[in-house]
Amino acid sequence: METRLQLIKGDITTLRVDAIVNTANPSLLGGGGLDGAIHRAAGPGLLEVCRLLGGCKTGEAKITRGYKLPARFVIHTVGPVWGVGDRQEAEFLASCYKNSLAQATIHDCKTIAIPNISTGVYHFPKELAAEIAIREVKTYLAANTTPEKVIFVCFDDENLAIYQKMLQGEIK
Ligand code: ADP
Repeated sequence: METRLQLIKGDITTLRVDAIVNTANPSLLGGGGLDGAIHRAAGPGLLEVCRLLGGCKTGEAKITRGYKLPARFVIHTVGPVWGVGDRQEAEFLASCYKNSLAQATIHDCKTIAIPNISTGVYHFPKELAAEIAIREVKTYLAANTTPEKVIFVCFDDENLAIYQKMLQGEIK
């Protein structure tokens, strides 16, 4: 397990991996935060193909090519908005990780980089989000040989510190 998990701080749009995960919104037509950064780096080809996908429901994931990104694929997943009152936020967040990893498996991605889904403008509590993310990734990797490696990408120091604490002794 140790060698299959990696933790870095940085900008996911710069990574030369098989797939990066995008924190999309249900329209899949771009937005702010990471979504905007991915569309800017990928160029207009990404938006063109996203228009054809018919949106994406919360917890689900759809895959496209990476266009001008160094990553071959972008897996677009829609995280839950924290506090909308349906009390299913944790389940939806777990689904984002499971379904994104399943897309990586289907497309034979050996390396996938995943951001801290829903912890930006969707305001999911960071500790709880990290717990769910780490649990789901570990469970998935234990049951699947592909992807071979999952890179948790933190953009802010708070998330990085939380992941460092929770993954202590488990990452190289
Ligand atoms: P959400 O709507 O799912 O909350 P956001 O895009 O607002 O999505 O933020 C999700 C997470 O992605 C946040 O923790 C934010 O700090 C992080 N993030 C923002 N830009 C980048 C980037 N370029 N690379 C990696 N992570 C990023």
